[in-house]
Amino acid sequence: PSLFTDVELAAPVVIFQLTADYKADPSDKKINLGVGAYRTDEGQPWVLPVVRSLVLGKDSPAILQNRAGGVQSISGTGALRLAAEFLFRFYNKREKSTAVYVSSPTWGNQTAVFKNAGFTDHRTYRYWDADQCALDYKGMLEDIENAPEFSIFILHGCAHNPTGLDPSHEEWIGIAEACKRRNIFPVLDCAYQGFASGDPDVDAWSTRKFVELGFELLVCQSFAKNFGLYNERIGNLCLVMRDSPTLSRCRSQVELIVRAMYSNPPNHGARIVATTLSNPALKQEWLDNLHTMASRIKAMRHLLHSKLRSKGTPGNWDHIITQIGMFSYTGLNASQVEFLRKRHIYLLSSGRINMCGITTSNIDYLVESIHDAVT
Ligand code: PLP
Repeated sequence: PSLFTDVELAAPVVIFQLTADYKADPSDKKINLGVGAYRTDEGQPWVLPVVRSLVLGKDSPAILQNRAGGVQSISGTGALRLAAEFLFRFYNKREKSTAVYVSSPTWGNQTAVFKNAGFTDHRTYRYWDADQCALDYKGMLEDIENAPEFSIFILHGCAHNPTGLDPSHEEWIGIAEACKRRNIFPVLDCAYQGFASGDPDVDAWSTRKFVELGFELLVCQSFAKNFGLYNERIGNLCLVMRDSPTLSRCRSQVELIVRAMYSNPPNHGARIVATTLSNPALKQEWLDNLHTMASRIKAMRHLLHSKLRSKGTPGNWDHIITQIGMFSYTGLNASQVEFLRKRHIYLLSSGRINMCGITTSNIDYLVESIHDAVT
């Protein structure tokens, strides 16, 4: 059975219902005076973008069975916030607060968002092995196996922030199987779909694997990075539920949460995303653009790696090219970061760098400075 069998259908928001009734009315005399918003002469009410097929794949059984649905969110952070609010109200029903696990390290806002929604039991699972500059796969599996049953695990769908390190397909299967054994509830945070490999389908592999294995789950999508729409705040919370009625009930509750938090999401960026995804020529152009962005990042990784190697800079820099996405955990320590700062090179004290900050014209100065910092 679904984990959400007790969730009731939310009463419709009156003003939204009025609009739905208006839309359903076949009369050619109909006039909608209900909605409190400016409408142009053509004024069609905004239809939520159908972006779930981007992350689940258009042939996903969850979509075909009508048990996957989306709610537009205020970018990726807003999708996480909706996920947290929904789970706190409808999943977190045991005596003690459900444990929420994030990777160590992670993008710090994940825990902050779940804290703000009311969760109190925050934990980390092992992820980054600093000695090896690699995934601590064994540690991660152990932490899943030792987690309280029904814990929530926030997983980075692809292009892990801040390490730039993703599990392999084989490792993902191991992770998913461990989650299954412990009845873990997965929240897939997908802020960089397309940035890891250059292909959004390839980057959705882990999410689709979890769906294929029969999990009920939530996916938090951001279109900030992969559409370059940073300040439009366009995202999507995708719900995959056991069956269609459960989806309807759960989505109605998420919509109620939206209504009370900010009523409606912004329209303009969402229209750009929806138009692009539903027009084959535009979609191809977007895929090419994504590929361009991911390729430049990959090229900078290889250039940085080869320049450090040919300079004989101490250390094994192979992780620079095995990592993916925008970020790289360089392995530089806090005092080396401080040293770089005196050379006017700015990066987080954790040693995380954004590969996009590297260009063919600044890379030699960077390599020279990293060399001096570690020698
Ligand atoms: N999740 C992760 C892992 C991120 O790195 C980010 C952005 O930095 C987000 C979510 C949120 O993205 P947005 O800017 O779309 O809110």
